[in-house]
Amino acid sequence: TSAAPPVLDVRDVTVRFAGLTALDGVSFTVTPGSVHALIGPNGAGKSTCFNVLSGLCRPESGSVTLGGAELTRLAPHRIAALGVARTFQNIVTTHGTVADNLMLGRHALSRAGFAASALRLPGARREQREHLARAREIAGLTGLGAHFDSPVALLSYGDRKRVELARALCLEPRVLLLDEPVAGMNAAERARTVEVVGEIRAELGLSVVLVEHDMGLVMRLADDVTVLDFGRPIAHGTPDEVRRDPEVLRAYLGT
Ligand code: ADP
Ligand code: MG
Repeated sequence: TSAAPPVLDVRDVTVRFAGLTALDGVSFTVTPGSVHALIGPNGAGKSTCFNVLSGLCRPESGSVTLGGAELTRLAPHRIAALGVARTFQNIVTTHGTVADNLMLGRHALSRAGFAASALRLPGARREQREHLARAREIAGLTGLGAHFDSPVALLSYGDRKRVELARALCLEPRVLLLDEPVAGMNAAERARTVEVVGEIRAELGLSVVLVEHDMGLVMRLADDVTVLDFGRPIAHGTPDEVRRDPEVLRAYLGT
């Protein structure tokens, strides 16, 4: 319905691992400011797709462009610098305070800034203060404001999961890739995270690609859905459309 060019354009991406085709001609586009869900049974290729989008996996063929710029063969840090940030399916943050972890995200923004701050140059100190102020804002946006100086090891599971989200946001991305952001959370933590994702989307105007098993959450948050099964895209559409699609029901119910 939108005439705006897509922010992210994934075209005909194929990935093979020693005989296994993990992604088989996957294409989809992400409209600016939208939430695009990528769903499918376990092993469908969702995380592999995120690995391609973030540069951790090179596809055998196909392309990924961000605002028209080719990302396909760039290193992960270059892709992050161009505006694609991600979270991982499993929590990777175990050390330091929330602030420490968010500042790591900020440092990834400017390598020169990191070197200069190590040398304690005055300009770098100001930049450091600005980064800290922004990290604090992002902690507030993600519901971690009260825990900014707490060690992540002492946080609840749901809060630690949201540290991953906050750290990705610290890169000031145009596109945020969320790999199972509520996996393992209890109902209250899920509800809180849904609320936070809705808020950051409205507040920061970013585009989100969401991998998620929780269908209720996909239905609530997603504008568009792409369904993968054994690496193949089997359906595209609105949440309501794909929910009724016979191929999708077959893939999920195994009938
Ligand atoms: P999903 O996230 O949808 O559950 P994945 O993308 O993790 O699925 O995996 C897709 C398929 O690719 C699975 O069969 C998985 O075992 C396989 N796979 C994923 N990563 C690798 C890898 N690095 N080497 C070999 N096989 C892999
Ligand atoms: Mg996965």
